This record gives sequence, C-alpha cells and structure tokens, in this order.
Amino acid sequence: MPALAHKIGSLLFCPNCGTLLSLPKDGEPMVTCERCNHEEPATSYENIEITTRSHPEAFPSALRQKRKTQTKIHQGKVLPKVSEKCPACGHLEAFYEEKQMRSADEGSTILYTCVSCKHGWRINN
Ligand SMILES: [Zn+2]
Ligand SMILES: [Zn+2]
Repeated sequence: MPALAHKIGSLLFCPNCGTLLSLPKDGEPMVTCERCNHEEPATSYENIEITTRSHPEAFPSALRQKRKTQTKIHQGKVLPKVSEKCPACGHLEAFYEEKQMRSADEGSTILYTCVSCKHGWRINN
C-alpha cells in the first residue's frame, strides 16, 4: 500500500514531497503529484469534501428524497374495484383482494372492502 496524502483541513499534501495536490478532475480516479508523480486516489478527496461541505444538508436531503420515493411506491398498490354490494351500507362498489389459504384444498378467500364506508368482509371460495 502506498502512503496516502497528508490531510490538513480540506487540503491534501503529497506524502512524499509535501506538494499541495490539486483537486481531482471530473471522472479521474487518481490525482497525480506535479513534483514526484505520487498517485493519490480521488476518493481521499471525496471524504474531505463530505466533512467540510458548506451545505451539510445536501447529502441528507438526498437520502430523505430516496425514502419518500420508496414510500410512494409502497403505497402505490391499488386494489381492483368490483361490483359487489356492501352489507353495511348497500354501496355497489368494493375493493377486491384474493388471499390464497395455506393448503390448496382450503381454496382462497376473497376480501372485499367497501369503497364508500370502508366496511370489510370476506367470502370463502
Ligand atoms: Zn509528491
Ligand atoms: Zn359500505
């Protein structure tokens, strides 16, 4: 393992000759020392950038955004609606969900949820 650069504040200095290393260019994995050609991985700079970022909110907000999107996908499950009379309020539309029972000969259970009053009931096949 080659020696890593010395970190002083947000600056990196070459471990061999002490020269200030320049910022990595976009897409380049290494920063090369101008004086001795020491190669410093650009990831050393990434660690520094995160801890000294003037807007620390930038990173956590990206995480929040991701969580929000996942929740949206989870809630995006929409049950099909069927024409079924609600025994509680007489409304003629209900959400339909079929649940398979543990063993095959028990058949399946249809779960209905009234669109109007949210009353739930089930019918065994
Ligand atoms: Zn150097
Ligand atoms: Zn109802």
